[in-house]
Amino acid sequence: MKRVGVASLMHESNTFYPVPTNREMFRDTCLVSGREVISHWGEAHHEIGGMLEVLPALGLETVPLLTGTAMPSGPVEEEAYEEILAEILDRISGESLDGLLLALHGAMVAQHVRDADGRTAAKIRQLVGPDLPIVMTLDLHANVSPLMIGSVTATTIYRTYPHLDQRERGREAARILAETLEGRIRPVQALVKPPLCISILAQGSRYEPMADLYRRMEELIHQEGVVTASIAPGFAYADVEEMGPGFLVVTDGDGPRARNEALGLARRAWDRRHELTLLGTPIGQAVREAMADDAGPVTLLDVGDNVGGGSPADGTLILEEVIRTGSGPALVVLFDPAAVQACAASGVGTDVSLEVGGKSDGLHGPPIPIRGRVRCLHDGAFVEEEPRHGGARYNNQGLTALVETGEGHAIVLNSLRMAPMSLEQVLSLGIKPKSYRILVAKGAIAPVAAYEPVSSRMVYVDTPGITSANPAHFDYRHRPRPLYPFEPETVWDLS
Ligand SMILES: [Zn+2]
Repeated sequence: MKRVGVASLMHESNTFYPVPTNREMFRDTCLVSGREVISHWGEAHHEIGGMLEVLPALGLETVPLLTGTAMPSGPVEEEAYEEILAEILDRISGESLDGLLLALHGAMVAQHVRDADGRTAAKIRQLVGPDLPIVMTLDLHANVSPLMIGSVTATTIYRTYPHLDQRERGREAARILAETLEGRIRPVQALVKPPLCISILAQGSRYEPMADLYRRMEELIHQEGVVTASIAPGFAYADVEEMGPGFLVVTDGDGPRARNEALGLARRAWDRRHELTLLGTPIGQAVREAMADDAGPVTLLDVGDNVGGGSPADGTLILEEVIRTGSGPALVVLFDPAAVQACAASGVGTDVSLEVGGKSDGLHGPPIPIRGRVRCLHDGAFVEEEPRHGGARYNNQGLTALVETGEGHAIVLNSLRMAPMSLEQVLSLGIKPKSYRILVAKGAIAPVAAYEPVSSRMVYVDTPGITSANPAHFDYRHRPRPLYPFEPETVWDLS
């Protein structure tokens, strides 16, 4: 029986966020090896779960190596990155493998190397030699680099944002690897990167023009001789040379065709580039719109403090506007370990006066004074059984306090930064989201899967911050130039 290694190192790194990601932050989210990989990911709606599911059915032996993932944040510390990579390399060299499944993110930046995923893939390739088939999966927010693609045999990337097809991509990667090992296909891949930046708010795979691009991609995948195809709209919050969308086609042995088809997809996006720049609704208008909606609650997406994009999770600008205008009641989750400790010291059922949020930096609003009652304290562990963006099943937001204010707002304070991918984050505290007028979710498109079912509508709010929808706010040093829309006159020279 042929033996297939399964390894993963995933992080979405926001280079505009000054807090680096260390090893402990990987441990807080998930850093497991050997058999633990199977218990942690086996049932999860994640690519690792999909790989583990189909490998036995394909007649292949699974060799779980190591998986590491951390909540998006600043670039990964050199020591943490090198240590985890060395462990992966160690485990690979300790096994005799016939193939490898590698789940990377594609937007990981380490403090000492900007194309960290490219380096990870290249180091693994160097170790196993040129002939071992490696099939890689990437997040849709990958800034795909030639080094990543050049280091592996084939690649497949999530096709949905919110990311709900992660498990299926893992299954697909395993099938491509199996067919390669059987000698039935000989994957050749081509990557095309037009000089373009796609706004995070234009990346939703259900909305035009992305929906059109994904339909065209699916048609292509069903053609004879095409192994798979992918579109990665990219991650504008990583200031790297490969920032921007990637169009990738994998064919069975036909390099020129792979390149032509990838060019065709990229051209289609380029032709609609004016539709790929979107900004959100101003804060005041968003709160007014929410209060005017009697069918509520309305979810206000705090795009400038998009935790899944690496922001601090304690931005207060929407809460400030809600309180200032006497709107609500609102449900707001804030990362604030100090306020949690104050609630824990005071105790459940007691009244507290706190200054909440706004403590990480001066970019996402000030701390906000609140008075209210501590309704519950929770260890922060919750399980998500449905397919949700990110595919995590076991989640941990650290010690968490729910404070109900005199105005009826529910302020959830947690001790570990947690992106709002799962409604269980608040349901586990006994909160009934439908009893509020306003739900604040700190993200862009990703929280839609969790919040849309309990909301009358979703409003993307143009909050400032390190994940603002307007990349013109950022000072780039490494991104490609020229790039549309930063340089509006950009010409894509294909000669
Ligand atoms: Zn993503």
